[in-house]
Parts: sequence; structure tokens; C-alpha cells
Amino acid sequence: MQVTPARHSGAPSKAPRPLLEVRNISCNYELERAVFDLSLTVNRGEQVCLLGPSGCGKTTVLRAIAGFHPLLTGGIFINDQQVSAVGAMVPPEARRVGMVFQDHALFPHLSVRQNIASGLRQLSAHEQKTAVGDMLDRMGLSRHAEKYPHELSGGQQQRVALARALAPKPLLLLMDEPFSNLDQELREHMGQEVSDMLKESDITCVMVTHDQNDAFALGDQVGVMADGAIIQWDTPYNLYHQPRTHFVADFIGNGIFLPGTVSGTSRVVTSLGDLDSNADLELAADTLVEVLIRPDDVVHDPDGPIQATVRRRAFKGAEIMYTLRTAEDITLLALFPSHANFEIGDDVSARLAVDHLVVFQKEAEIT
Ligand code: ATP
Repeated sequence: MQVTPARHSGAPSKAPRPLLEVRNISCNYELERAVFDLSLTVNRGEQVCLLGPSGCGKTTVLRAIAGFHPLLTGGIFINDQQVSAVGAMVPPEARRVGMVFQDHALFPHLSVRQNIASGLRQLSAHEQKTAVGDMLDRMGLSRHAEKYPHELSGGQQQRVALARALAPKPLLLLMDEPFSNLDQELREHMGQEVSDMLKESDITCVMVTHDQNDAFALGDQVGVMADGAIIQWDTPYNLYHQPRTHFVADFIGNGIFLPGTVSGTSRVVTSLGDLDSNADLELAADTLVEVLIRPDDVVHDPDGPIQATVRRRAFKGAEIMYTLRTAEDITLLALFPSHANFEIGDDVSARLAVDHLVVFQKEAEIT
């Protein structure tokens, strides 16, 4: 039975239906453990990303979902059907999962049209023709249908890989670093384009990447991974503004950690001024802490209390990212609108405007 998600039907909201459930899985390679007791749920039509540094286990999770890697513990369910258990796996081709790889993995001797048709052998010739024509159209590839992969640009190859994965109408699309071979500009463009296309077609997708821009462009939810586990599963907004650990705060976005001391229940005293939280910090007074200061928390203000010198600048179009050294010898990153145009060595005044105070208790130093 096909259930239309409530958010499209206008019906009273129903609980979202999971399409993919990964329950407490662990995986290893011979003696090395790569994934530890990891769980995640992806609802129908949702796009999620696993984001983390090289070697944290992202690809292993994706391979386990695709059916290429066995489980040591736990289980994987697609569309309510168990597809992986300890010692038992439904083969990849029977999972209705489409895959897009980092290197696109197109068949070099097949044309674009033939590449897209390669996963449709179970269909009649007429159905194949219709399905391929539809994908060529949707991906803007009709003009290139008879070309071979080496005659295409990186972005076009990427689109063919996506078209080939989507043509058999998979329940779930898995993408492993799909944009990493593209240059920066194309990468951002493709990230947005793919995200729009998946949303329009209501396709459920899991992508793994080490690039937070890719993750933020595509992920409704993003799981930040380290050492084979998900450290925080959250929206891109919350990962940036409310990271739950020092690792996530450091890995996501730019920023510095400003030392301070808790005062009362919701204030932190720092050498750049007092910072107030709108919530109880749940830390005892006088606890030594670090406050996350993002570049957009530092505001250019000629009357501001912070006096600093520009050490570095990176022009970003509408904004300029400055590295500032304050009179207190603290390095700050500051994102100012680019009409506030300072040169290296200039003195600037600024103030902190921190909407979401993110505070971590300072680790005790081992003596
Ligand atoms: P990357 O972003 O570099 O692809 P990743 O986060 O996807 O990394 P995995 O490829 O899942 O990480 O690897 C997780 C761990 O498993 C790493 O420590 C890696 O060295 C190890 N590993 C991966 N593949 C193999 C293999 N074929 N044999 C042995 N160990 C492996």
C-alpha cells in the first residue's frame, strides 16, 4: 500500500514513516572495528548525510546499508523489511537501493543512454526507452545521450551517474562523496541542484561526505561521525549553533574557543566581556569553561569594546573573513560585510553578539 506522507497531503499530521532503520550496527575489517553500535532512522522522502573526518566509518555504514558489508551486531531494515542481520544479508541487487559513487563509476564503453539503461534490463525495450528518455530529460542530458563518458564534463558525468542510479526507481538512494571530483563552484551548484531534484521527486537519500558544505546543501538531518559512532544527529542549523560536543563545534564551521569563568547560573566572564546565556548553563559558579565564538558572532562596531588588529583577510564576495588579534592577545575570526573593507595591519573595533551561547567545561589539565 502506498502511503502519502502527511506533509504533502494536508491531512492531520501522522507520525513520519521510516524508510530506513539502522539498529545498533557494528562492523569490522578483520581485527579492526570500523563502526560501533550505530543507529539511525531515515523517514520517507528525507535526505540525510553522514559527515565526518576521513576514516571515521562513513563509507562502511553506507556499504552495510547497500548490502556490501556484513554486520557484527544489530540489523538494517528497508521499508520495514530486514535486509541485514548478523550472519544474514539480502543481496545488494534485491534491496532496491541506488548507489552513486565518488568516481561516478560509469561504464566507459557505453554511451550516456546505455549507461542509464544498464540497470533496467528487467524492463521491456519500450519501458526502458521511456524510462531512459524521462531521466535524460529530467537531468538535462538529452543533447548528450549518444556521447561516451570521456566526452562529458565532470558535472555531466555526475548527472549520468545519478540518472543511472535513479532510473530503476530505487526506494533509497545512497551517495558516497558524490561531489568530491567536482571543482568548488560546480560542487555548490550540483549540491543544490541534486537536493532540489531529490526533494521534487520525494526520494529518500543517505549521502556520506567529509565536506560540511555538501552535507548542509543536501541534508535535512546530518549525523556527525567520529571513530565509528554518530556524535550528534541534528539539523545543519543546530549543528552550527548548538553543537553538543567540543568535537562537533570544532569540526562544523569556523570559530574559536574563548576561555571564561561561569558567574551565577547563566553568565560567562571572559577577557572580551561578559556573555549571557538565555538558558541556565547548569555549571557551578567559577567553573572554567570555553565559549564557542563563531565569525558571525563578532560584529564590526566603531564604538565596540574590542580593539583588534587585522592579521589576515579572505574576501568572500558579500563578506570578508578577518583573522583579528585583540589587545588581550586573543585570535578571533570575524565575518564582516565586505563594505567594511580593512587591510592587514589596520586597527578595528568590534563587539560580540552571541545569540546562542555554546559553553564547554574546560578539560582539567593533566600535570
Ligand atoms: P574516508 O572519508 O577516508 O573514505 P570513511 O569515514 O568513509 O573514510 P571508512 O572507509 O568507513 O571511513 O573506514 C573506517 C575504518 O575502517 C578506517 O579506520 C579504515 O582504515 C578501515 N578500513 C576501511 N576499509 C578497509 C579495508 N578494506 N580493510 C581494512 N580496513 C579498512
